[in-house]
Amino acid sequence: MREMSPFLVDQAISKPWKMIVKVMLTVVLVEGLIMVIFAAVPMPELNEYILALMDAALLGLFVAPAMYFFLLKPMRQQTISEEQARFVMFDELTGLPRRDLFRELVEHEMDIARREASSSLMFIIDPGDISNINQLFGYKAGDELIKQFGQRLKSIFRDSDIVSRLGGDEFAVFLPKSGMSHIHKLIEKLKLPLERPFLVGDVQIDITHAVGVGVFPDHADNANDLIRRASMARNRTKQNHLHFSIYDVEDESISHSRLEMFGHLRQAIKDDELVLYYQPKIEQLNQRVVGVEALVRWTGEHGQSPSVFIPLAEQTGLINEITRWVFKAAVDQCCAWRDLGLRIPVSVNVSSRSLYDSRMMDYLVRYVEKKALAHELITIEVTESAVMNHLEMALTLLTHLRNIGFKISIDDFGTGYSSLAYIKLLPATELKIDQSFIANILSEKKDAIVVQSTIGLAKDLELQVVAEGVENVDVQEKLQKFGCDIIQGFYYSRPLDADAYLIWHQQWNAELVQDDSSMLSGGMGNDVQGSCQSG
Ligand code: C2E
Ligand code: MG
Ligand code: MG
Repeated sequence: MREMSPFLVDQAISKPWKMIVKVMLTVVLVEGLIMVIFAAVPMPELNEYILALMDAALLGLFVAPAMYFFLLKPMRQQTISEEQARFVMFDELTGLPRRDLFRELVEHEMDIARREASSSLMFIIDPGDISNINQLFGYKAGDELIKQFGQRLKSIFRDSDIVSRLGGDEFAVFLPKSGMSHIHKLIEKLKLPLERPFLVGDVQIDITHAVGVGVFPDHADNANDLIRRASMARNRTKQNHLHFSIYDVEDESISHSRLEMFGHLRQAIKDDELVLYYQPKIEQLNQRVVGVEALVRWTGEHGQSPSVFIPLAEQTGLINEITRWVFKAAVDQCCAWRDLGLRIPVSVNVSSRSLYDSRMMDYLVRYVEKKALAHELITIEVTESAVMNHLEMALTLLTHLRNIGFKISIDDFGTGYSSLAYIKLLPATELKIDQSFIANILSEKKDAIVVQSTIGLAKDLELQVVAEGVENVDVQEKLQKFGCDIIQGFYYSRPLDADAYLIWHQQWNAELVQDDSSMLSGGMGNDVQGSCQSG
């Protein structure tokens, strides 16, 4: 593995010799001078020993400063500037070349490859969500993990391969004399060492790495473009939850179409193309609606699903405008139902970027107060990862919001790194188990165990448990057996616009009343679940 730029090595060898020559010249000059002085000034009474001593003293007097200024000081300065150069060129944590040096070395290898007409590979490797690790185990643990990750990467590859930490949690490897046919074998070679748990202190940490691959000269003919294109492939790997992707020209059009979508979304917000849909949450004990979740929809020609445009809005900063719009629309709707004599609590999803923006939360507080709506009718849904990534900040902020009277729900629980031990610290009122676990509870024993134990533990912490994404009666019955408090999903109703929801709500309540009265008159009670399902 390359350690030092050839330029630095050259400097380090040549400079000390120059200094030694300078000092030797000084010695010869001074000695010559002393001899001239001794010859010119007659000193008959001094014997040869005293003369030799004076000679040595005079020589020392001149040579010591010369040694200091010509040899020691420049050498020390050189060591310092080499250290600084090392610091600039090599990552302190892993000892690997940083981006600039990596680029220089890759360009050099590309020149050789051009002469030999050979191909090379560029891997961009991302060791999972380090910011989560930082939050959960501290920055020292995050640093230690990065260090170990770098060491493992170095040990996997040949000495002629160039491993670099480009920055943050982005690593790169350039492999000369390798091509398309080697990719799968190399990816396999990475798997085992990088998937082995990392021991940080006495904690074992599992991480999932994502790889993007670019090929020289097929995908780019210079280091910068190859790094950029392999990074695009890595982004696709992460977005699609894959293990690795090879750069494809479509990656360019994906980034182009994202730019286009950004323009359309910004316009859609201005043109009022956003609409809130509502999905009921049903209490299992009595089958009553305990609230609805507000889910934004983008209507209009360019409309996309929220799982596509919300992440884009989060990355581009448009999310705050959406959040502000959602807050206003949800509070207005809750007030409209209140004015009809209906008490329907509304949950709103709040992205991390808006949650930690005090202007957004101030807006919600002021708007709820302006409309004289009871705070407890609004539940703030925040994802587990949004909370865990900023645990301390989340704790302060959510405690403040809870003290005002809002309810707090932890959404998509089970998808992050957290455990209930952390949730216990938060002033949450509700826990929503992510639908990826719910979908498989009938077929996957492990998922069923996770869901059942989460329900049990959440109840011990006096949190209401919501299962989302329930699509059929079998799953609903299983969850009821597990003791789940509240269920939300297509089984009861898909998200509906405000008008359709009102019809569904009134019909549901009417059937409940009918059901209750037939129970009272000794009837068996009809199957309320699903009877109001909408398509
Ligand atoms: P989420 O908050 O976890 O919302 C639940 C998602 O599951 C919704 O998708 C809902 O339509 C869907 N769903 C509900 N029941 C079922 C079911 O039985 N089966 C299946 N397969 N899906 C079901 P949707 O509306 O597409 O929203 C996706 C995500 O987008 C939401 O996940 C939330 O993270 C985000 N989102 C939606 N609206 C907003 C919003 O107003 N603000 C923010 N920040 N994020 C939002
Ligand atoms: Mg939600
Ligand atoms: Mg969810």
